[in-house]
Amino acid sequence: MTIREKFEQKKPVLSFEIFPPKRGAALQNIDETLEILSKCKPDFISVTFGAGGSSDHNRTIELAKKIKREYHIDPVVHLTCLTYSKAEIDAFLKVLRDNGLENVLALRGDSNPEIAPKEDFHYASELTTYLREKGGFCVGGACYPECHPQSPDRVADITHLREKVDAGDEFLISQLFFENEMFYSFVESCRIAGIRVPITPGIMPVINKSQIERMVTLCGASLPVRFRRILNKFEDNKEALFDAGMAYALSQIIDLLANDVEGIHLYTMNNPVVAGKICEGIKNILKRY
Ligand code: FAD
Repeated sequence: MTIREKFEQKKPVLSFEIFPPKRGAALQNIDETLEILSKCKPDFISVTFGAGGSSDHNRTIELAKKIKREYHIDPVVHLTCLTYSKAEIDAFLKVLRDNGLENVLALRGDSNPEIAPKEDFHYASELTTYLREKGGFCVGGACYPECHPQSPDRVADITHLREKVDAGDEFLISQLFFENEMFYSFVESCRIAGIRVPITPGIMPVINKSQIERMVTLCGASLPVRFRRILNKFEDNKEALFDAGMAYALSQIIDLLANDVEGIHLYTMNNPVVAGKICEGIKNILKRY
């Protein structure tokens, strides 16, 4: 089923993001994670796409196939374009088609000093256009409640987001954030700009301080004072930080659900315990929908 159809049928749509195991690690090791994730009955699981060459892509595809065939959950395959030619994207699309993988998250990707960008794609909107011209795929895109780090301001950011949706993105998944009011204000600005597709908020439960510092540096999400206090207080106590991080993420999710968001997208970091505890914490809330 396409992700567009899922959003039409049921809200909130529950989804997880996972990444393929590192090169050299067996794909089977991900089974423990998938076993627990599948018990939460997500509507889809998205699989990230490395920018490091064809073996990385194969792992994304292999994992997506596994999710579909062995766990009967619809996968969304992330696809970046900055470092690929149209011919390379075509070859990738053929593999997706041959395996019945119809849902794609079209991304630009970040520039990588080790891999030169190619000339065919400069922005995600160009990949979305290309995928929609090819046909047969349900295409989504990424969005940024606190602006993409390279955007000069929110007007430019939302103007380009609108271009991406006009090019054919049928749903949007947000970057992680820790302050729900930012997400609500972002969605309001998107609606004013005429962006009508579902926008699902991305939440990452934080269970260790180095993880969050790395993520915040990479994606530019800000840490509210309330959250920073928790990190400072419990950073040296692993168990306490785990409990506090889970409680914070759950309170964010419950507030989002109370505000009728269209979905919840959990950045699982391949940690099944975290995803399982979040699902346990909202199981009675989700039953109401
Ligand atoms: P774009 O939509 O192209 O935007 C990038 C920047 O360019 C923005 O500042 C935008 O405002 C600007 N822009 C867009 N169009 C124009 C234009 N015409 N003129 C001028 N400026 C323009 N990365 C990976 O490598 N693999 C993954 O699997 C992956 N998954 C992700 C999943 C989610 C949900 C998110 C939020 C991000 C993910 N990323 C992933 C990271 C993403 O690749 C980076 O954030 C990247 O820097 C931007 O990608 P994009 O698709 O949002 O780019």
